[in-house]
Formats: sequence, structure tokens, C-alpha cells
Amino acid sequence: MAFVMGLDAPVTTARRKTMSRILNVSQKVGLKANGAINVGDDVRAVQALLAIAAGTFDAVTGFWSVLANLVSYFGPRQCDFSGAEATMGTVDFKFGTLIRTGPRLANGGKWDADLVDWKINPTSNAYLTIFIRIFFAKIDPAGQTGRYGDADDTAANPSKKPIQKWKPGEFERYVRNLTSSAQRFWDGQFWLKTPKTYNGLNTDGHPPYRCNIYCKFDLKAAPRARDAHYTIAVVRAQDGVDFRSHSVLFSQNDIKSEQMIPHSTVKFWTHFHEVGHLIGLGHVGTGGRTNVHNDNSATAYGVTAREMQDVMGRGHSRHNWHATPWQQAAEAFTGVRAADWGVFQQHIAPQQALVR
Ligand SMILES: [Zn+2]
Repeated sequence: MAFVMGLDAPVTTARRKTMSRILNVSQKVGLKANGAINVGDDVRAVQALLAIAAGTFDAVTGFWSVLANLVSYFGPRQCDFSGAEATMGTVDFKFGTLIRTGPRLANGGKWDADLVDWKINPTSNAYLTIFIRIFFAKIDPAGQTGRYGDADDTAANPSKKPIQKWKPGEFERYVRNLTSSAQRFWDGQFWLKTPKTYNGLNTDGHPPYRCNIYCKFDLKAAPRARDAHYTIAVVRAQDGVDFRSHSVLFSQNDIKSEQMIPHSTVKFWTHFHEVGHLIGLGHVGTGGRTNVHNDNSATAYGVTAREMQDVMGRGHSRHNWHATPWQQAAEAFTGVRAADWGVFQQHIAPQQALVR
């Protein structure tokens, strides 16, 4: 897969600085005018450049995967420079970066992903990471206290609940807790078994090993709305107030556990569930009719105990169907149908591949 890089596409002034940083980095990794790049150990950084190369640079959301890759590779200090103008070059790289965006995904399923195979060996699988960046808009009342409409608020039936100013440091602590715990909930929970018909994740040695895919999740707060996949407003409800949140309006209580299943001690955390929606999952439904978006009917949250205990119902259990977004990304990267990637909730080691 070859990509031609350049500055042919119009670039806004605001983005120009960051772009020149990236292109600076690209020079550091050996990208030469009209030349091929020697990737070597620099694959991860080069992979990040491909979003630009593929002409998707203007999709700022996708840009976060790009930047995250660069920063994780070079460290933040080295990425913080600007100056030199772009050079042109051709990059050969296997998988590139997947950017899913568009208005249809405004309520979930919008993210970037990459499939990293440069560390595979007979005991290490490939990593498929889904990246989501959220801008959390802090809602403070004009005075010390005020009122703010919750999920039940409509013009006909106003539902304004008492809120207050966030205390110093409280909002930042909330955002940190939310992102780190929701990332922990979804990160590294699933493995996809590479079908025998696909040799694109085989190791080079003899005999070759067929590596599987480890499903990773990277969730961080973005500094501005335009850098984020999603914007979520967050209020500080007054203590004891039952503020009903929805997918883009949270309160400080949404990282605390609740009990949603009658006569059960199974706990539910709003943010695990809502981040599930952002990854692209619908509600658990019933009778295996899962992944239904915008379905808030009585049966959407499950009917059987197992369904209700699902994190996309009223509980916190993970099930194989939650790996669907990673399966879809795997299909986009490899051309192998999503359904052909078997889901496991425990580590599956690479296996010797019988290749003639
Ligand atoms: Zn929901």
C-alpha cells in the first residue's frame, strides 16, 4: 500500500503548525523528498503519518490517533517543535490508520483505529487499538448555584435540576477518573482469532506463526471540541439531587455505581455503558437481537437475567458481542469478514501456520 504525502490539500492556518510538527517528525524518521521510507522500528510513527497521506488530515478527529501515535513513539517533548515546511515522499505500509467519521456516527461508532503488527512474534499477537477523544464541557451556573435541564427536560415538561459550581480541582479529577476507569473497562478484554485463510499476520520465521489480534482501547480527554470525536457536557448536580443524564450530558454521579436490576445486587456504572455506545455498541436487546442503536424500548435493556447483567443492559458483564467494533475494524484492515474473527475473552497465543 503506497501513499503519497504532500501539501496539495488546503490546510487551515490553525492546523498548519501541528502539521509542520508532524512533517518535521517525518523527516526525523527518514522521509525523503520523492523517496521511499525505511520504516524499521519507526513503523508506528509512519503509520501515524498515513492519515495525512490518505488525505484525511482534515478529519481532525482522526488526527488524534495520528498525534497519539507520534507522541507515544517520540515522547511529548520531541513532538513539540515547529518550523520546517513539508517535503514529499512515498510511504509503503501495510495497514494504515482507519478513521470512522460522519454524521451517522454522531451518537457512537466514531473513532480511529490502528492495527500494529510490528511487534508480532511466535508469542506476541498484533494490537488493534480503537482511539476515542472526548471533549468534556464543564457546565457551571452563573452564580454559586443554578438550575439546569436534565434528560427529562422538554419545552412542554421542563425538568430543571439544581446544580452548583464545580469545586476547585473536582472537575479535572472527575474527567481523569472517568476516562481512566472506562478505558480500563474496555481495554484489553477481547482477542480475535485470525482465521486459517488469512496469512497477513504471520511471522516471518520458519515455521511461521499465525498471530491473533489483541483488542486495545485508548480513551482520553481532548482539550477542545474540534479535536474530539464527541463533546459531553458535565454538570455538578447539588448533593442528593437525582439528575438524569444522557449520552452527551453527564453529572458527577455517573462514575458511581448504581443498582438498576430489581431484586439484584449487580451494579451498573453509567460511564462504562455510555462509552460502550461511543465505541459503537447498542443496547443488549433480547433473544440475541443486540447492537440496536437508539432503541430505548422496554426490552432494549434485556429481558433474561444474563441480558440484564450485560453492561449494555443494566449491569456490568462483558460478552463476546461487545467485540463487534474491533471485528469491524479488523475487516477494514484485512478484508477478512468481521464475523470470521472468532472472539475470545482470554489470551489466545499465536499458532504455527501451515503455509506451503
Ligand atoms: Zn444506553
